[in-house]
Amino acid sequence: MYFYINRPPHRAFLIKPIYKLNTSKKVIALTFDDGPSDIRTPPLLDLLKRYGVKATFFVLGQHVEAYPEIAQRITDEGHLIGNHSYDHPKLYLKTPRFIRGQIERTDSLIRQAGAQEIKYVRPPYCVKMIILPIILKSMDKKLVTYSYDPMAQYNRDFNGVTVADQIIENASPGVIVCLHDGRQDHPEEFVKAVEKIIIALREMGYAFVTVDYTEGLQH
Ligand SMILES: [Zn+2]
Repeated sequence: MYFYINRPPHRAFLIKPIYKLNTSKKVIALTFDDGPSDIRTPPLLDLLKRYGVKATFFVLGQHVEAYPEIAQRITDEGHLIGNHSYDHPKLYLKTPRFIRGQIERTDSLIRQAGAQEIKYVRPPYCVKMIILPIILKSMDKKLVTYSYDPMAQYNRDFNGVTVADQIIENASPGVIVCLHDGRQDHPEEFVKAVEKIIIALREMGYAFVTVDYTEGLQH
């Protein structure tokens, strides 16, 4: 039961997670979790700006608190910010009060960083049973998971080429890719991976969008 409903990105109790964009167009959403960090996020933002790519950042409240100016930069530069909890607990079998507290505390920090509306939530570890969907529904928020989570990004020796290749090989219309700007290691390799992804997917005809993409409204 736990694995049946809790882990798979496409399945949740009560609400349908956004694990893929509903489109047949060649668009891809790059999403970045656990940030902002002072190590990976600034060079990533520089890169995205250089290529004119907009991405979605699922930030942690405690990191927004630690690096408010970087969070502000994310919103100023036109990226979409989503809520990834305050300090990354497993929201499995937690009380409604605890879960709501994690979301509200982070929302208020994100708002201070300039975001108008925080509609999208990605739970830590994509653990979402069983109270979380009820709370998200009551707060009129959308649950976002992902289509593809490249395993090579978790290797101790982060290799940018390997991570990029995994994403490029698994690209298809509407894919939501999960990456992490909140990690502290290998900033150069991380940025190299994202650059390779952008160049290769553009050559394949893909455009980059955020998870609020609705076919017909953008591009
Ligand atoms: Zn996370």
